[in-house]
This record gives sequence, C-alpha cells and structure tokens, in this order.
Amino acid sequence: MPLSKNHIDALIKISGPKGFTIDPEIIASHTSEPRGKFRGATPLVLFPDNTECVSQILSYCNEHNIKIVPQSGNTGLVGGSIPDQSNEEVLLSLKRMNKIREKDALNKTMTIEAGVILSDAHDIAESMNSIFPMHIASEGSAMIGGNISSNAGGINVLRYGNMRDLVLGLEVVLPNGDVWDGLTGLRKDNTGYDLKQLFIGAEGTLGIITAATLKLFPEYKQKNTAFVAIPDPEAAINLLSLAKQISGDSLIAFEILPRIGLEFTIKHMNDCREPLEEKYDWYIVLECATSVSNDLINLEEVLEKILEEAMESGLVLNGIVPKNVSEQKAVWNLREFMSEAQKFEGGSIKHDVAIPVSKIPEFLELGTEAVKKACPGIRPVPFGHIGDGNIHFNLSQPIDMDKQEYLARWEEINHLVHEIVVDLGGSISAEHGIGTLKVDELKHFKSSVDIDTLKSIKLALDPKNIMNPGRIIKI
Ligand SMILES: Cc1cc2nc3c(=O)[nH]c(=O)nc-3n(C[C@H](O)[C@H](O)[C@H](O)COP(=O)(O)OP(=O)(O)OC[C@H]3O[C@@H](n4cnc5c(N)ncnc54)[C@H](O)[C@@H]3O)c2cc1C
Repeated sequence: MPLSKNHIDALIKISGPKGFTIDPEIIASHTSEPRGKFRGATPLVLFPDNTECVSQILSYCNEHNIKIVPQSGNTGLVGGSIPDQSNEEVLLSLKRMNKIREKDALNKTMTIEAGVILSDAHDIAESMNSIFPMHIASEGSAMIGGNISSNAGGINVLRYGNMRDLVLGLEVVLPNGDVWDGLTGLRKDNTGYDLKQLFIGAEGTLGIITAATLKLFPEYKQKNTAFVAIPDPEAAINLLSLAKQISGDSLIAFEILPRIGLEFTIKHMNDCREPLEEKYDWYIVLECATSVSNDLINLEEVLEKILEEAMESGLVLNGIVPKNVSEQKAVWNLREFMSEAQKFEGGSIKHDVAIPVSKIPEFLELGTEAVKKACPGIRPVPFGHIGDGNIHFNLSQPIDMDKQEYLARWEEINHLVHEIVVDLGGSISAEHGIGTLKVDELKHFKSSVDIDTLKSIKLALDPKNIMNPGRIIKI
C-alpha cells in the first residue's frame, strides 16, 4: 500500500521545513540511477541534516513498519539506492549531512559525515597535508556513506585496500532509531566483535551510516605513470609481479585496457587521443607513487627499471611515460572514460567480477569464448583493476542487433559468466555490491550456510525488515 498521508505528514514534521521534498520533479532526480537500468517511485524524499533527526525518522518508521531506502550520491549502479516502484518506500538522502566533525593530523584521521562527497573528502585530507587514497571515476558525486555502504574499491585498492581497510570508526543509526557511536580513531581495538565491519558493505540493509573516521596517509612527493602495450593478459600478470618486486609498495595502480575499449574511448570521448603510433591488443596503465622525496628514492628510475626489464623479457612491447601532470591526466582519461564510451556503442551487459589474479588470463579466455558462442557478434570490452583481480567484463552488443533484444539477455549472459567466475574461485561482485541486481545470483552462488547467516544478522538488527528491504537478500 502506498505511504499514507498521515505518515508523510509525520515524517515531514520530524524532518523540518528544509528536510524533505514532495516535489515530483526533485523526486524524479533521485529515483533513477546513472545507467538508467533502474527506476523507482516514492511520494517522499527526506533530507535530514543531523544524526538526531535520522534517529527520529528511523524510530518512527520502525514503529509504523515503513520501509526506508538510504541514498548518498546514487552512483551505485546495482539498484540499491533507489526505491522500488511501489510508492511504499521512503527515500532518505544523506546529502545535507556533510560536515567535518574532527581533523586529527597527528593521528592521521578525519571524522566526517556520511554526505561528504568523495572528492571533497580528498580536499579535506589535502588540507591536512595528507591523502585519502580511494579514487573512483564517480568521485565527484559519490559520498562517503555510499562508499562505505558499498565497500567501494577503485584504482588504488592494490596499495591501500578497499573501504573496509580505510574505515576506523563509524556512527550508525540502527533500524530502531538507536544511535551506535563507534567513532574511534584507534588502529587497535580488540573488544569483541568488530561491529563497524557489519555496516561496511551492508548496502543500507542494517542501518544508516551518519559519520565515519577515516585513515589518512602522507601526501605524495612523487608520482610516475606509464602507459604500455602488452602482448596478452598473461603478460599483464607477469608485469604486475615484476612491477611489485621492483617497486616495493610504491605501485599504487595497475589497470588493463583492451584495444576495442581504447577505440571506443578515442572515438566517442572528447580530448582522448591514440597514445601510441602502432596498435596493440592490450594495454596497461601503471602508476607508482611515494611520500619519500626523490633525493632518497628516485621513482622515475624505479619506473624506468621496471619498463627496461619488462621490455627485455617481452612483457612490454611499447609505451610512453607522461612527462607532466596534464600528460598523466590524458592517460588516465583513456581509462576513466572507458565505461562512459561504451554507451555510444548500444547496449552493454556488465559484470563486475573478482578472480584470483593468477587466473585472470584463463577467465578472459573462457569468458570470451562462452559469450561469443552464446551471442555471435558480441563485443567483449574487459577492462579495469587487474592489479587487484577485479575485471569489469563488459559486453557491447553485436553491431546489427536490436538494443532491447540484446539487453533482454542480461540475466542469461550474467549467469553464464558468473558460472565461470565461481568455478575459478572468484566473486560475482567485486566492488559494486549486490543491490537488487544480483539478489538471485547471490542466492544461487552462495551456500545455504552463507545465506542463512546473512539472514540471521539482518533479522537480529532489523527484525521488521524496514531497512532497504529486498537488497542483498530477500527475507
Ligand atoms: C562512472 C562510475 C564509475 C565507478 N567506478 C567505481 C569504482 O572504480 N569502484 C567502485 O567501488 N565503485 C565504482 N562505481 C560505483 C559507485 O560509484 C560506488 O559504489 C560508490 O561507492 C557508491 O557511492 P554513492 O554515494 O553513490 O552511494 P549510493 O549509490 O547512493 O548508495 C550505494 C548503496 O549504499 C546505500 N547507502 C548509501 N548511503 C548510505 C548510508 N549513509 N548509510 C547506509 N547505507 C547507505 C544505498 O542504499 C545503496 O544500497 C562507479 C560508478 C560510476 C557511475
């Protein structure tokens, strides 16, 4: 049943004059996600600006069995951050909760609210002569609460881990309205279960994250990038191993790009140019960075050494080393725009999968063979974070196929690819999460013990199932 007028009025009263909208146009801007794959409906979006208000909202919703969908930047892509079509779910946007709570330069931490945009979090860290090292292409819109709830990854997981590794403390409003104050900057705390880890990656199903204490790192004094052509994915993982050996922990990014993806990007995106004169099947963007000054370690020499040895052993066929920040940016644009560029090539069926790094060449071979057999003319564009085993196995439609006819095969093709992923010891979701998109796939590929344990945790914290119901698991 759609949300009643009485409930809408009560929630508006709790949220205050600036804390809600019932304007259909504003609501519409919150109820579809960037890919356009999901569209929802709600009569009410709430914009609380403090934890106490979130607590009162959840307390009211819990008492009256009203379902709540939390939303941060709405860049999640798996249908977790928008309401369903029933008009029963209230959307709660964290965008007004964007204050800095504490900067602790000596502890190398910052405590900020959940609605701080990721790129603003980078600026806050910079103001403390530090870095917050999580970088994703959506960082201009995605927010800290969403990053934590989706356990976001990005290009520097290789060196710094994903959100699970970067959060020290959390403040969370539980489904019954209780506020759990777990905001701590401790690196060591062995006092029972690590509760914060329950909420990281929970996709809003266990409570609403309102603030977080995040780890910071010393700012870089040197950063060197290379764009290289390689013969095949096997060479990519051998190059990764070599680069790790030579660079120690200064290797911060290692991304793979296929020729077809580069062609799409150059063809469709502004200011993207062919970086090398000859054409090759595969490319790697690798980056090393360090906070050590170059009179102690010369990173340029480290990168030169990697490339020299790689060329001698045939792992690298050609390459360029950008000479300044704008050249570095031009190289990174080729990677960052790769997903966007695929939109211009018709339908794209996506997979965000993780495979043990050593098995990626096998996955790419088996996956490509399977999808080409299932759908002749399909154009695989596998790219992404090969350094940490995460491949975006995107599949552009056959050129002359109808887009809707192709996209209607999304689940069938997903399943085919996921079978291969799981056979190789991989995961069907590396960084984007489950949302509503992969609920059935998760149930299929996880054991009954996994699913029952997830359900037990969910029901222990949210017995009335009001928090983002139907996302991750169906109760
Ligand atoms: C172009 C592009 C590139 C991307 N690249 C990457 C990448 O490299 N790596 C990566 O990991 N992801 C990537 N993503 C996916 C997405 O940006 C991340 O998942 C991001 O962390 C989501 O943050 P958000 O603020 O948009 O969250 P939202 O999309 O708003 O929400 C994500 C989930 O968290 C829940 N949620 C949001 N806020 C809260 C809160 N405060 N408390 C509890 N639950 C909450 C929502 O209900 C939803 O289930 C990309 C997306 C795009 C569009």
